Amino acid sequence: MSKFTVSLVRYEKPLESVAKAVELCGGLGRIGASAKVFIKPNIVYWTKAVPFPKWGVITTSRVVRDMVELLAAHGVGDITIGEGMVQGRPGDNETPAHAFLTLGYQELAKRFGVKVVNTFERPFEEVDLGGGMKLSFNADALHSDFIVDLPVMKTHAQTTVSLSIKNLKGLIDINSRKRCHNPDPQKDLHLWVSRLHRGLPPVFALIDGIYTSERGPGMDGTMHRSNLLVGSWDALSADLVGASLLGQDPAQVPHLAHVARQDGRPLDLCDVEVLGERIEDLAKPHEWTFPYNEDGSLPLPMVQRGMSGVNFYKYDSTMCTYCSSVNGVVLTAIALAWKGQPWDDVEVLTGKMMQPRPGAKKTVLLGKCMYQAHKDNPGIAHMIPVKGCPPKPEQIIEAMHQAGIMIDPAIIMGMDRLPGSYMKRYKDKPEFDENLFRVM
Ligand code: SF4
Repeated sequence: MSKFTVSLVRYEKPLESVAKAVELCGGLGRIGASAKVFIKPNIVYWTKAVPFPKWGVITTSRVVRDMVELLAAHGVGDITIGEGMVQGRPGDNETPAHAFLTLGYQELAKRFGVKVVNTFERPFEEVDLGGGMKLSFNADALHSDFIVDLPVMKTHAQTTVSLSIKNLKGLIDINSRKRCHNPDPQKDLHLWVSRLHRGLPPVFALIDGIYTSERGPGMDGTMHRSNLLVGSWDALSADLVGASLLGQDPAQVPHLAHVARQDGRPLDLCDVEVLGERIEDLAKPHEWTFPYNEDGSLPLPMVQRGMSGVNFYKYDSTMCTYCSSVNGVVLTAIALAWKGQPWDDVEVLTGKMMQPRPGAKKTVLLGKCMYQAHKDNPGIAHMIPVKGCPPKPEQIIEAMHQAGIMIDPAIIMGMDRLPGSYMKRYKDKPEFDENLFRVM
């Protein structure tokens, strides 16, 4: 049986390590000099407001630069780096521009002539992914000859892992992203993610595991310096290896199980040949889900602090990225508002399919989806809607105050600054090297 080749290499030296990972899994031979290549890094979040931890969150500029250098040395002249990062304010083009500049992509443009694009400033085209599923992808990526996919090796609180297939979600438009977080149990998030690479040009995956992340995708997870690189011309094979390195059984990762089933592939890696290092020598357990109490009504750390009188149910897969970025901040604000006195039986519903608890005194419907789902629900005693999509900071503050939870408005209004508070975790830890996110 012919096998899919995956390289597994330790990151040791600039350029050399990435070159080895590329070579071992087949090299760049199939990319002709006249080919158009689209590089997709992972910039899941950015803020201009404060320095924040990028380790395990964003693809290192080291790997992006090494890949560009290899492609240029191979003779490829038409290279685009593109990303559609999550933005708190739709239409904000300044934040992505700041990200691209800070990460050194504009320097790569000067040195190697690469183009750098914010996908939200470019056209999208609808692609039929089969089974009645359609998503709109960035046209530059669609019309390239090859996609070089550079995800971060991370676990993910909704999809268990986020590797090369999931990283392609950053190529679709906002409506498509919302569609992926679908309440239809037959077409849920996992099935949509499993289709992301269908209909795209051939994908070369190089998973950046210089830093790996537990409970990603954001900076509130736990980061590790792992020094791993995984390469393959087959995205599923790369992801099966990546998941295994994160200590996750690929058979338990719903979107990988969908892809394998669609392609008639096994999930036990018996049709994958790993060249370089051995998975069993490098795999390390990485948790993926945030711990909640038994009935999923409150995060465990809040329960342990004795908080009561509020149910903030565990996020589900229908909560899309824009509400997700608000969710953690609201939880933080509630935790900081705790004064030791139970709140007045408040519940907070999120995503698209949560149901109110009979008997709850006050029900906050966080986001337009929840409002639409329950605006006529006679079972809600006191409805407090936050109708925005995504919910607006002012509306969130007003709603929580109305529910009797006196959160500090500065936390919600200063959402952009909160990631800066995670920087202290990395103080005096030289292995967390900011220079890996620069092009010098
Ligand atoms: S309200 Fe939230 S979950 Fe609903 S579509 Fe908007 S951002 Fe997504």
